[in-house]
Amino acid sequence: MFSIKKIRFFQPDMMFQTIYDITPEVLLNQGIKAVLFDIDNTIAPYDIAAPTNEMKAYFKSLEAAGLKMAFVSNNKRERVHIFNLDLGYFYVHNARKPFSNGVRACIRHLGIPKENIVCVGDQIFTDCMAAHGAGLEFYMVAPVNKKESRFFRIKRFFERPFIKAFKERIRKGQKSE
Ligand SMILES: [Mg+2]
Repeated sequence: MFSIKKIRFFQPDMMFQTIYDITPEVLLNQGIKAVLFDIDNTIAPYDIAAPTNEMKAYFKSLEAAGLKMAFVSNNKRERVHIFNLDLGYFYVHNARKPFSNGVRACIRHLGIPKENIVCVGDQIFTDCMAAHGAGLEFYMVAPVNKKESRFFRIKRFFERPFIKAFKERIRKGQKSE
């Protein structure tokens, strides 16, 4: 029988309201040494071209904890390049998530074991699939932009059962895997 609860591939490994809740302490406690971030709606809305001071301070706090960062974005080169100007991280643009090639390129670049790298994103059907496809855990955040297009609202609707299954799993105290 098909059971949606069994499909861990489509479930985040942890959920947070915003990236700022994914503190250096949270990451270090999980043994994380590097974080691959989605940009749009995970860190910033589409119309914010460069990181705000709050965003920069957040990334500095991760750097201060010895963490490495990279961006994996489905957006075009110009968007990612401009967003990354002051940060200077490794990035993959046009990553074509849910395919995992972009995530894998970051893993190779970092040279860090998979169990010490995590992906952070706002979408199941792109970010989560790309992360799990490459063998990484996926931490999900709520999308920063509340005003989304109809296409995205439809996607969110289909994400719901997986989010619900995740929350149920956590409630039952089962360890994520
Ligand atoms: Mg996104």
